[in-house]
Amino acid sequence: MEYRSTRGNKKQTLTSAEAVLQGLAPDGGLYVPVKFPQPKFKLEELTGLSYQQVAKLILQWFFDDFSDEQITASVTAAYGDQFDQSEIVPVTENKAGNDYMELFHGPTLAFKDLALQLLPQLMTKAVKIQQVDNQIMILTATSGDTGTASMRGFSDVAGTQVIVFYPEGGVSPVQLKQMLSQQGSNLQVIAVKGNFDQAQSMVKEIFNDQSFNQQLHEQGTQFSSANSMNIGRLIPQVAYYFYTYAQMVKRDEIESGTSINFAVPTGNFGDILAGYYAKKLGLPINKLICASNQNNVLTDFFKTGIYDRNRPFYLTNSPSMDILVSSNLERLLFMIADEDEHIVIDLMDQLKQNGKYQISTTMKAKLTDFIGGSADEIQIKKEIKRVFDEAKYAIDPHTAVASSVVHQYQQKTDDQTPTVIVSTASPYKFPETVFEAITGNQVKQPGLPAVKQLNELLQDELPVGIKELFTTKSRQEVVIETKGMRGLIKSVNKRG
Ligand SMILES: *Cc1c(COP(=O)(O)O)cnc(C)c1O
Repeated sequence: MEYRSTRGNKKQTLTSAEAVLQGLAPDGGLYVPVKFPQPKFKLEELTGLSYQQVAKLILQWFFDDFSDEQITASVTAAYGDQFDQSEIVPVTENKAGNDYMELFHGPTLAFKDLALQLLPQLMTKAVKIQQVDNQIMILTATSGDTGTASMRGFSDVAGTQVIVFYPEGGVSPVQLKQMLSQQGSNLQVIAVKGNFDQAQSMVKEIFNDQSFNQQLHEQGTQFSSANSMNIGRLIPQVAYYFYTYAQMVKRDEIESGTSINFAVPTGNFGDILAGYYAKKLGLPINKLICASNQNNVLTDFFKTGIYDRNRPFYLTNSPSMDILVSSNLERLLFMIADEDEHIVIDLMDQLKQNGKYQISTTMKAKLTDFIGGSADEIQIKKEIKRVFDEAKYAIDPHTAVASSVVHQYQQKTDDQTPTVIVSTASPYKFPETVFEAITGNQVKQPGLPAVKQLNELLQDELPVGIKELFTTKSRQEVVIETKGMRGLIKSVNKRG
């Protein structure tokens, strides 16, 4: 199994261990398999597998230079009792009309844990496979959840340093508290003046700055990425689509072979792309519903074939989806361009120069697996209330975006396909919005007091990841300008 860059020649290949270590290709592209795996498997056989076993299967399809022992050890370490449910990904049945795949039972209460508990395992093994002596410095731009999840995953992992950049004022109070509370001598977390797109584009620029890379290299350091641009983060996410399908077959909700829909709250397009990979691997998926909040650049893209980021950037109550440049869309473009890197390079140049591009009609015709839709702040709150009133089930604002888009879609069309809503965060991560949506009243105080207030309303067990925030000490917030990011990296590297 070989990998190549979406912007590079297909003859220039890497192993999966190299691709995981590098994160992002030096030409600015993203790593993708040269030949997409076409595994033989029987759906019925998946129903007997645990989450760990499904994950192992998928990883073996993509990462064949890792040994069986290395993959088993990685999966065992990643999906253990740091999750508060032994099934790892519980799938709730028929809540107000649809199923919810709960991806928030990991230590930081968002779906990012499913990939970021595993990535450090893969990376430390990749370092051995490739016999790398350098320290690995992980640079991460976060819209809120990747930051905490990558710090948690890499905390005190030998040979690694992590620097997380988040947009100042662009994350929820609980997300901020979580990020500032992470423990580990190899972790740095820094606020950047600007929005997520600006932080992410600066991280990409630093990644591709050859002379800066060279300087660090001389000091024994190399960069990698924990963003969903890293293939080592994307592939583990494929597992939960398979596992969920198998669970639904197992409990006779669907027959084996029946196609189902998945609705995914989308920002950087990583989670939904993993669903598309699942479909390409042979999982019976009808539609992938790409749900956006008010930053609905993707909704327009799926309707018109035009990607246009020249529009206002809204700070919403679903901050992890406040993104106008969805990095992983590049991997989809590559696939619908029949793997022609020249087309991808041209479109990405246009995006950089003009902030927009239009795909050809041939490419557009290949997007029929997707439906785009969006929900605004009012619709999101209405949906949280509808689901709670009908099913006594609390969903977070990100999940509510997908839920609302599905609800609109089901009312507009006669699509009767069983639909799973991908539930990306715990409602306790965004207690202010959830409380207000359900009760119509504002919380008395945002952050941890709001967690308590929501808990009194819901009367359930608080997740461990939230409980511990009440007792851990947090760091001071440090704020810098985007142009100060290089300098900061240098000083962290000197300290070692
Ligand atoms: C990151 C995130 C998303 C968006 O996922 P992408 O893979 O970036 O599309 C949605 N919801 C939550 C809670 C997230 O943390």
